[in-house]
Amino acid sequence: MKVLVIEDEVKSASYLRKGLSEQGFIVDVAADGEEGLHLARHCRYDLLILDIMLPKQDGWAVLSDLRGARNQTPVLVLTARDAVQDRVKGLDLGADDYLVKPFAFSELLARIRTVLRRGPARQAETLAVADLEIDVVRQRAGRSGKRLDLTPKEFRLLSLLARCAGEVLSRTLIAEQVWDMNFDSDTNVVDVHVRRLRAKVDDPFPRKLIHTVRGVGYVLEDRDK
Ligand code: CA
Repeated sequence: MKVLVIEDEVKSASYLRKGLSEQGFIVDVAADGEEGLHLARHCRYDLLILDIMLPKQDGWAVLSDLRGARNQTPVLVLTARDAVQDRVKGLDLGADDYLVKPFAFSELLARIRTVLRRGPARQAETLAVADLEIDVVRQRAGRSGKRLDLTPKEFRLLSLLARCAGEVLSRTLIAEQVWDMNFDSDTNVVDVHVRRLRAKVDDPFPRKLIHTVRGVGYVLEDRDK
């Protein structure tokens, strides 16, 4: 299960990331509405956890943009205010459920289970691009049936790229998602890890999947189609 948390409060976002990861979810975090909407539209998630008060673009705008684009990913809205009109507005805009802050983690999990049960058919737990296959649950990846021996960070990096296949991801975004922190000053770390990942994923195979987009970042896609 892949979850995108759109939440600007650092403490709350890292609490959600940690707690949900411990429950076996794969968690991406966006710290503002703009980045959140971008990820939600271009990458695949089973669930969005969306805060309302967000910089750049608030949660309402994110939600109405998504639904306007016919994106039906289940959305659980987090609201700090227990106002009836907020609840109504959220459901009107196409949220699947909402939760008032502060909430107990167990309550969040219960809501997530309900939303996912109600939602559209679950996405497969396997990501595939060309002959690359990623088993998200077992944390395994392979190409042409050959198992790739990846470290946990390499696996996280590869599954992020595959989840957003065809979408160019910036070094900063990759650093935030894979290392859970801001590497603005040293995105070199990303380059080093991409190089190591390529050595395992691409070098032994004729078809290259990880591509550098100069001055921007990296994209995983099958260009030999
Ligand atoms: Ca907020």
